[in-house]
Amino acid sequence: MDSFTLPLDVAAAEDHLMRLLSVEGVTGQEAKIAAAVSEALKKAGVPASAIRFDDANKRIPVPTETGNLIVDLPGTRPGPRLLFSTHLDTVPLCAGAKPRRDGDRIVSDGATALGGDNRTGCAILVMLAETLLKHKLPHPPITLLFTVREESGLHGARELNPADLGGAVMCINVDGQDPSDLIVGAVGQENWEVEIKGKASHAGVAPEKGISATLVGAIALTEAKREGWFGKVVKPDGTGTSNVGIFGGKSDKAAGDATNVVTDYVFIKGEARSPTSAFATAIAKGFGQAFEKAKGEVKDHEGETAILAFTHKPSYPPFNLDEGSPVVKRATKAMTMLGLKPNYLFSNGGLDANWLDKHGIPTVTIGAGQAEIHTIKEYVNLPEFETGCRLALLLATIED
Ligand SMILES: [Zn+2]
Repeated sequence: MDSFTLPLDVAAAEDHLMRLLSVEGVTGQEAKIAAAVSEALKKAGVPASAIRFDDANKRIPVPTETGNLIVDLPGTRPGPRLLFSTHLDTVPLCAGAKPRRDGDRIVSDGATALGGDNRTGCAILVMLAETLLKHKLPHPPITLLFTVREESGLHGARELNPADLGGAVMCINVDGQDPSDLIVGAVGQENWEVEIKGKASHAGVAPEKGISATLVGAIALTEAKREGWFGKVVKPDGTGTSNVGIFGGKSDKAAGDATNVVTDYVFIKGEARSPTSAFATAIAKGFGQAFEKAKGEVKDHEGETAILAFTHKPSYPPFNLDEGSPVVKRATKAMTMLGLKPNYLFSNGGLDANWLDKHGIPTVTIGAGQAEIHTIKEYVNLPEFETGCRLALLLATIED
């Protein structure tokens, strides 16, 4: 089959998209959208027995209504199993979205984001099942995976059990914008945080008896910047980025609560990203050393210092597929058949693909018309969505 004989019903695919966009399902609250997707799949001819939920939500450390939705489509020709993945959830800014068509776009009413990230992916997977079944297209065994809680930390993909994916050898994740873009790798991330316990004292009467946690934090961040660990990081042994996200006090309050008291407590939280796990860890450790050094510079009149509790832990692993890997070759072939010139990208943000790759399934991420995501200007580019549909159909059906 070539791109010209693909039996794509564009109107039906857009109908799926419009309907799924109208179902609320912000991150952690995916039960309703999962039910809507299941319903659409059943209408498309997928037997109820092929549709199931895993128990990933029991392992996700934040409340999550449902597990990942997994669907098995038996092959109509032999071949290694393919996985198509996407995420069910949207960012909270999408709550209450009212999708409406405007020319070759779908837009929201401007009060919310739209949720094309990632209902475009959900619609593509539904379209894929429907088209394969309706036209009895030849394809190897396929598993469809709809994850939960992608937007709040890639939790669904992280906590899934790879054995639930039926031995899939490669994965196409639908979660992007331009169908010419092929995401073949992404950074990994390490999160760090520090509690600085100083000592309170009257700032006017006896400042020398206090240990300012705020000052320790300020010196530490200055030190981190001077040592090259802040923002864009370029060192002989690696590259990456870092940021300080929160500089505050106890329970989301400000650090300190009066100008006349030496601040006795500060909580600081940040992140580090890099194409290698080891260097993301190195950046986090660079911050740790900066806090240690700063601690020694801030003493009370008896030479006492603040007490530090610095911790860091990996958030998600990096991955990077080379152009010769089978999934990249398959995607390149399908894109070329559609007349697209593949633009291989390395993402500076984590994707479900990071965890799927970690679970042993090399994963590329394709685009299907998302635009201006996570903002009230979000829209779906329908010509790109249509190209994404064709790309998914080719990826499911072409021979190696
Ligand atoms: Zn997304």
